[in-house]
Amino acid sequence: MDKRFVYADNSATTKITAPVLEAMMPYLTDGYGNASSIYSIGMDSARAILKARETVANAIGAKTSEIYFTSGGSEADNWAIKCAADVAAKKGKKHLITTVFEHHAVLHTCQYLEKHGFDVTYIPVDEMGLVHPEDVEKAIRDDTFLVSVMFANNEIGTIQPIAEIGKICREKKVWFHTDAVQAVGNVPINVSEMNIDLLSLSGHKIHAPKGIGALYMRTGINLPNLIHGGAQERNKRAGTENVASIVGLAKAIELATADIPAKQARLSKMRDKIIAELLKIPESRLNGDPVKRLAGNVNISFRGIEGESLLLSLDLEGICASSGSACTSGSLDPSHVLLAIGLPHSTAHGSLRISLGDLNTEEDADYIIEKVPAIVGKLRAMSPLWERILRDEDIDAE
Ligand SMILES: *Cc1c(COP(=O)(O)O)cnc(C)c1O
Repeated sequence: MDKRFVYADNSATTKITAPVLEAMMPYLTDGYGNASSIYSIGMDSARAILKARETVANAIGAKTSEIYFTSGGSEADNWAIKCAADVAAKKGKKHLITTVFEHHAVLHTCQYLEKHGFDVTYIPVDEMGLVHPEDVEKAIRDDTFLVSVMFANNEIGTIQPIAEIGKICREKKVWFHTDAVQAVGNVPINVSEMNIDLLSLSGHKIHAPKGIGALYMRTGINLPNLIHGGAQERNKRAGTENVASIVGLAKAIELATADIPAKQARLSKMRDKIIAELLKIPESRLNGDPVKRLAGNVNISFRGIEGESLLLSLDLEGICASSGSACTSGSLDPSHVLLAIGLPHSTAHGSLRISLGDLNTEEDADYIIEKVPAIVGKLRAMSPLWERILRDEDIDAE
């Protein structure tokens, strides 16, 4: 195949699509009014925000009054967890539950709370990357105020039994937060049917701009502010509204949730073809559940190679992907997600994540299938680690 550019890192971020940019454009040009002002162009902004709030609410089965715009998924996670902790502390509750393989926006927030006197239980996941609801149930104590379990994992794509966990939390009267950044637009979500109390979402994973997201806060939950200042977002989140991005988020979520089954069918067909072909490579394994996974997620480890080298070689061929290897995350340890599902370090280092999205085509999938095996073969030919694997040495022993 001729060289092409294949963007296959849609779990990291996505391209802003034409309809989203078009919806935003008026607010980046002449419609610059401050939504708190009373003249016409200010009121236009306020109306655009209200309409966007309705759209986002509808997309997840929430009420308009339950949606608060934030600067992204990380802020929504921080708000939900830190401010739930503030409320709980006043009632003498000090315990929260999360999982070992959350996004760092959740994990590092929980670690921050641990330093401030809270007690956190980190539930393990099984070798497929699934949380067992009964483990959550067993971990709930009298002083538990929050359970936070991500809807779908950003690295291995596993989709969690969110409705079951929601049911348990509701019965036990514990708030349930889910980081649904990867799930929104890819999995049908209904916060009321699923008994979700708090939900984080982000724009740039669904073709809206970076720096915009939202927190859904169920009616009756009255978290204090994370960001103090002006009276924006009904006094809950200060800062002059990012009108253009809010409108972009609404357009993006509307498009992403319009026909989820059709999107799942299209993407999972490409995903399964890539998985089947890449697993023909010797000493490779699929990470995560083969079925309960995001339609666009492929995560495969190739023993005997380094993820970074693989990514650099793929880049030379025009393919953007990602890895759970160390340097990409700026630390020496490989991905905590891959370690959580029991991978040895060396196998985690050789992992490749391909995340397909709306803009990917069958040709993209074929191109990936053509390029990856050749690159893996070339890298292994130069790898001392691969020689040791061929000699059947235990490379994880030392
Ligand atoms: C990307 C991502 C986030 C962070 O969202 P930002 O909008 O980039 O702050 C949080 N959680 C998950 C699961 C993500 O994939």
